[in-house]
Amino acid sequence: MTFVRPHIQRMEGYTYGEQPSDRTIIKLNTNENPYPPSPSIKQFLDGLDLATLRLYPDPTASTLRSLISEHYGLNPDQVVITNGADEGIRLVMTTFLEQSDVVAVTEPGYTLYEVVAKIHNARIHRTVLSTDWQLPANSARDWDEHKVKVGVIVNPHAPTGRYFDENEIRKLAEGHKGILLLDEAYIDFVDPAVAFDSTQLLAEFPNVLILRTFSKGYSLAGLRLGYLMGAIELLDPILFKTRDSYNVDAIAQGLAQCAFRDKPHHRQNVERVRNERTRLTNAARQLGYRVPDSETNFILLEHPSHQSVADTVKCLRDHKILVRYFNTPTLQHCLRVTIGTAEQNNIFLKTLSKVSVI
Ligand SMILES: *Cc1c(COP(=O)(O)O)cnc(C)c1O
Repeated sequence: MTFVRPHIQRMEGYTYGEQPSDRTIIKLNTNENPYPPSPSIKQFLDGLDLATLRLYPDPTASTLRSLISEHYGLNPDQVVITNGADEGIRLVMTTFLEQSDVVAVTEPGYTLYEVVAKIHNARIHRTVLSTDWQLPANSARDWDEHKVKVGVIVNPHAPTGRYFDENEIRKLAEGHKGILLLDEAYIDFVDPAVAFDSTQLLAEFPNVLILRTFSKGYSLAGLRLGYLMGAIELLDPILFKTRDSYNVDAIAQGLAQCAFRDKPHHRQNVERVRNERTRLTNAARQLGYRVPDSETNFILLEHPSHQSVADTVKCLRDHKILVRYFNTPTLQHCLRVTIGTAEQNNIFLKTLSKVSVI
C-alpha cells in the first residue's frame, strides 16, 4: 500500500551535478560562472533594511518585470519572473500539459525536462541530434506528426554548446502547432558576432516562449532567479493562476534588479568567459579531443574514437577536479567541462594531458 500516485512511483528523479563541501575542489561540473556577480549586489545586501523581510514581497515582481520588459521592448505582462528557470519549466508544463500530452526534447538534452514531463504524466518525444549535434532538417514536421504540445529547444544547446541559427528556430516556431519553448539559459555567452535577437520572434509567433536565468551569465546560481517571456495569452495563466503567489522572495527581486542594471559588469563577465572558452577549446583540440564550437560557458570534449571517458573522469576526480559525465549511449565518450577561471582551466588542462588516453 502506498499513497504515492502510480506515475510518480514509476518515475526517477533528476540527477544533480555533485556539489562538494570541499572548497579546494575545482568545480567544472555544473556550469556555474567562475567570476563574482555585480558588486552592486554587495551594496544592496549591506544596506538591506531587515524590516523589508517582515512584509511579503511584491507578488508579481513588478519592478523587475518592468526593467526586463523595457530592455527588450516588451509589455511588462509579457514577462513572468520565476524561482530559477527550473520553476519556469515546471510552470510551463503545469499550465499547458494534459495527461498524455507530448513534450518534445532533444537527445542529448537537459534531462530535467523529462523529469518534469513525467511528474505531469506527459509523454516524451525525442528528437535525436545528428553525430555532429545538428537538428534533423524535418524536425518541425516530425513534431507535428507526433502531436507535440510543447517542443523544447535549449539554445545555445546543452550539453553540446551548439547554437542553432535563427532559421532553424523559425522553422520550428512556424512549422508546428504546439508551443516552442526556447530555453536560453546560456544566451549571455553567445558571441555578439553570431547572435540573433530571439525576443524579436515574440511579436511574430504567439506560440513561442523564451526562458532565461540569472544563474549562469549573471553569476547568481545561488539566488534562484529566472524569467519567461512570451505572448500575454500564454503568460497570463502562469502569472495569475499556476504560479505560487509569492514565488520570488524580496531579496532575490532586489538583487536581480542590481545585476540586470549593471550592464558593464555583465558584459565584462561574459566576455572573460568567452575568451577562456576559446583558449580551452583550442587546447582541448590540441590534446586530440573533438570539441564542437560552443556558445555557452562550457565545452564538450568528445573522445575522437568514441571510447568511454569514464576512467578519465575518475582520474580527474582523484586530482580534485570535477567535470560532468553522462553515462548514456550518446554521451559516454564525452566530458562536459565548465569554463573556469584561467587558473582553474590551466590546472584542468595540465591534469587532463596527463590522464587522458588518446
Ligand atoms: C542551468 C539551466 C537551467 C536552470 O537554470 P536555473 O535558473 O538555475 O534554474 C535551465 N535550463 C538549462 C538548459 C540550464 O542549463
